[in-house]
Amino acid sequence: MIRTKMFVLAIGSVLVLAGCGNESQEELSGNESPEKNSELNQKEQPEEGQFDSDKEEKQEPNQNDQGTEPEDKKENETNPPKENDVVSEPTSLQVVVNKQRQLPTGYQPPNLVVPDVPFYFDQFMQKKQMRQEAATALENLFQAANDQGLDLVAASGYRSYARQKSIYQSNVDAYGREEANKFSAQPGHSEHQTGLAMDVTIAELSFKLVQEFGKTPEGNWLAENAYKYGFVIRYPKGKESITGYSYEPWHLRFVGKEDAKEIHEASKTLEEFYGHMPGEEKPTE
Ligand SMILES: [Zn+2]
Repeated sequence: MIRTKMFVLAIGSVLVLAGCGNESQEELSGNESPEKNSELNQKEQPEEGQFDSDKEEKQEPNQNDQGTEPEDKKENETNPPKENDVVSEPTSLQVVVNKQRQLPTGYQPPNLVVPDVPFYFDQFMQKKQMRQEAATALENLFQAANDQGLDLVAASGYRSYARQKSIYQSNVDAYGREEANKFSAQPGHSEHQTGLAMDVTIAELSFKLVQEFGKTPEGNWLAENAYKYGFVIRYPKGKESITGYSYEPWHLRFVGKEDAKEIHEASKTLEEFYGHMPGEEKPTE
């Protein structure tokens, strides 16, 4: 507890670059309304903030990898400059959501459940949830890791459209749209909204979502074995220009065992595997 609180203090300054992309400060207040920002100062809530590299925070924009400088061009990397493609099959387990492709407004995934795995917090929160298929697969993955003596901890799964919307808006209010777009995702563009993603971490990292996770036994194990349970490391190292996000060894995305295996063996991103490379105006779906 003490350790995590310390991190909270550090958060403001560290608040990751990486991101699970889009989220903005969502984790900070959990799953509630914007007013809950006040909860940041409460005991449990703060712990979350730090975990979410998901650009959750509305911390100093300049601490963000995209941040600081007036590089207008970078903005295009952070947010879609053109009209977005709304995915036609949002419930597909293979849906590709990114900065160019969004879920329908207000989309809510079916069959959300809380996977029976350890979380770094006890109380129920929206972000504990995943779609049933993904939750069951996650339980199997955690069990397999545990059998290897690895203690994974779940941090953040489902995030609602409404939640992301309020987060994004509060960032716009605080920093202006242009600046907010550099580190905060617009609603509909977070893979967490699909209910098919889960950020995982370990106690040794004080449950933070940081790139160092990739070098830990747990991170290494995930990189080599997650596919066996239907998951892929969604934002791999070296694929930033394709995924639009920094390397996130903690962000697991469920796609099903068959596809995960092929994706793993081919070392591809979902964009490459499913044919939604950035720049392709109207990808087929
Ligand atoms: Zn994530």
